[in-house]
Amino acid sequence: MQVINPATGAVIADLAADDAASVEAKVDAARDAQPAWAARPLAERVEIIRKFRAMVTYRLDDLAAIMTAETGKPIALSRNELNGLLPRIDFFLDNVVDTLAPEVVLLDDDNGMEEVITQEPLGVVANISAWNYPYFVGSNVFVPGLLAGNAVVYKPSEFASMTGQAIAEMLWGAGVPEGVFPLVIGGGEVGAALLDQRVDGVFFTGSYATGRRIAEAMGGSMARVQLELGGKDPVYVAEDVDVAIAAASLADGAFYNNGQSCCSVERIYVHGDIYDEFVEQFVKTVEGFTMGDPTDESTYLGPLTRAAQVEVLQAQIANAVECGAVVQTGGGPVDERPGAWFAPTVLTNVTHEMDVMYDESFGPLIGIQWVAGDDEALSLMNETRYGLTAGVFTADEPRATELLRRVNAGTAYWNCCDRVSPRLPWSGRGHSGMGSTLSRAGILTFTQPKAWHLRQPS
Ligand code: NAD
Repeated sequence: MQVINPATGAVIADLAADDAASVEAKVDAARDAQPAWAARPLAERVEIIRKFRAMVTYRLDDLAAIMTAETGKPIALSRNELNGLLPRIDFFLDNVVDTLAPEVVLLDDDNGMEEVITQEPLGVVANISAWNYPYFVGSNVFVPGLLAGNAVVYKPSEFASMTGQAIAEMLWGAGVPEGVFPLVIGGGEVGAALLDQRVDGVFFTGSYATGRRIAEAMGGSMARVQLELGGKDPVYVAEDVDVAIAAASLADGAFYNNGQSCCSVERIYVHGDIYDEFVEQFVKTVEGFTMGDPTDESTYLGPLTRAAQVEVLQAQIANAVECGAVVQTGGGPVDERPGAWFAPTVLTNVTHEMDVMYDESFGPLIGIQWVAGDDEALSLMNETRYGLTAGVFTADEPRATELLRRVNAGTAYWNCCDRVSPRLPWSGRGHSGMGSTLSRAGILTFTQPKAWHLRQPS
């Protein structure tokens, strides 16, 4: 399988891809290796993940360069991701012992009766991952999954396979047996081959279209299926904000990583009283973004990772313009360079008649819609099939919390956006997926409870 640098079009590696037979052999090996891994004291698994963390720290610059070469992510952003990985690992290391500890829920000495809940690993789980934040979305699964005693069959995205290899090498080097963390390389067909094997869980991050296929394929298996999918995340900007600050913050929320984030701001609704001023400030910020060589420290926007997304963005822009939208800046690909470069694009005069306000753009494209006030904003925010995050920018906290309470999304942001915390559950609603990673919920999702009814002999 060839790895292509999206910034140059050059082939930078040729990897041996898996096939159905090798996938089967790896899952069988995982099945053999998992019981011994689960039988080791938790403290040993904690120590191994601590070593993995140390390796990430030691290799940080080298790992950032690999990620930048294969995804086109600007180098400063690649380092940000790796630096952000460390507190995520710390959260799991700090909380796994308490979260997985047996819980005595009844101790009835008079009748010699005790009730206890213990947490057991699921067994062999598949981790099918995306490319946009390969360290974040991968580690949300393999770190707690391994700590909880599972074998994790890891399939990185075909657009982040070298990063996947680096992750596997570090985990093996830290002491995770290869059978407990088999690496599977390849595209969608290899992911599908993984689903044909007997696995006890599938933890997937990617698009709704693939997530749906996975849910359908796994339906009869009764294995745990967790899906972290896309979004069309809305933000409402009320009239009482500092417009320049809100505009700068939301421009970053929409265009960071070229808009290729599951929780990128994808729709903005602005109160009519400040609409014109907001658009002006927003466009000014966007036009100040530096696009260029992703290995350059000052670059904010690199190429799109997947060239195929150019067509999706062009179609959304064409549809919007046809229905009356105005292109304030950008509007299409930047042709001069090899690779898929797309000018950051801001559309105004948008309405919910347009695809750009419904379908995930997953690229450097945003629609800004005029609204009369809170009620209209709330109703438009909820007019979506997705439900990952939603935000409100206002000086008035009770106003924000009341609106956010009524928004159907797994994450609520007041005066912030595009933010993930290891302490909080990350969970989508509707077409944004099912289940939670991160937080204590994101540890327990890799276990199954056992209920103990213990009666002392009379
Ligand atoms: P994708 O769905 O194209 O691919 C994801 C993974 O699934 C890849 O590893 C791919 O090889 C594999 N795959 C493809 N077809 C398969 C099949 N039939 N069976 C099994 N596996 C298969 O998604 P992508 O382009 O890698 O990622 C972008 C999407 O991910 C966006 O929609 C984004 O919003 C979403 N995402 C969500 C989150 C979240 O936390 N909710 C985080 C990151 C990305």
